[in-house]
Amino acid sequence: MLYPWQKEDWQRLGILRERLPHALLIHGQQGIGKRDLALHFAQGLLCEAPLPDGQPCGQCAACHWFSQGNHPDFTVVRPEALDTSGEPDTDEGGKKKTPSKIIRMEQVRALIEAVGVGTHRAGLRVVVVYPLDALQTEGANALLKTLEEPPPSTVFLLVTDRLDRILPTILSRCRQFSAQRPTPEAALAWLQGQGVADAEAQLAQAGGSPLTALHAAEAEEQPLQRLLVSQLGAGAAFDASAVAEQLQKLPVPAVLGILQRWTYDLLKLRLDAAGGTAPRYFPKERAALARCAGATDAHRLQAYATRLTAHRRSENHPLAARLVMEAVFLEYRQLFR
Ligand SMILES: [Zn+2]
Repeated sequence: MLYPWQKEDWQRLGILRERLPHALLIHGQQGIGKRDLALHFAQGLLCEAPLPDGQPCGQCAACHWFSQGNHPDFTVVRPEALDTSGEPDTDEGGKKKTPSKIIRMEQVRALIEAVGVGTHRAGLRVVVVYPLDALQTEGANALLKTLEEPPPSTVFLLVTDRLDRILPTILSRCRQFSAQRPTPEAALAWLQGQGVADAEAQLAQAGGSPLTALHAAEAEEQPLQRLLVSQLGAGAAFDASAVAEQLQKLPVPAVLGILQRWTYDLLKLRLDAAGGTAPRYFPKERAALARCAGATDAHRLQAYATRLTAHRRSENHPLAARLVMEAVFLEYRQLFR
């Protein structure tokens, strides 16, 4: 995926595509989307029917595998801590292991082994490593050997925001690509579009990096979201005005989204006479959902879901935020009367 401020970066990558270096080092400020740029470029290189500007078609078999994370000629190397798939590993005692923040030597060995075999699809093999500065000395030296004798038809896309931490010998083997930071206007517009309240302040705190600002805002919102969910579980005891007061920092679209998913789960449980259905969005709240679902009926839930949809159409009206919240919370409480 490309961010709105990456159009020029994409054009510059397009020029490089004509004479592709075997290693491209994408660097620039943290939190501006370099990793997504690298992944999008990788998908474009592997795509079997790319668009005229080199963007992946999103339809072909290669694109499909890529988005499923199992293209045979695509390898990503990143620290475990950035691996968002699945649960963290557990050790023999069943304790959760802290995910590693460095790229381990065994990951580099596996990579070198993988690029040593020919490609599976007779096209390119693409390797993305991020952040490159997470490599330790031993791993960096092993990678360097591979870059010095690059395997045929293989492209390395290396990503870092710490150019100062990269071995000069590695730098000398790479074509450097400086990713542009967004203008303040572009960053702000994008962040506001993500439903971040107080986008300007968040962006300032993040030093103008929109992705960093988004992550910080999301982390800040989590306790508020948990508060809302636990209050929803209280059913008739939901304290509408107190919650509306406490949730003022949460954008209305986020609140309505949670309400919609909660109501979906309530209806799902309410319509399941046998009682074996698991909630779709809030599986951990199963007991509270079952209790609430048992205290209302499907008719009222359906009517409420419809009203929530109507509210979403006017959710970005700034003046209405507090009023909308109070209204939907009061309506929610009425479900159990
Ligand atoms: Zn494609």
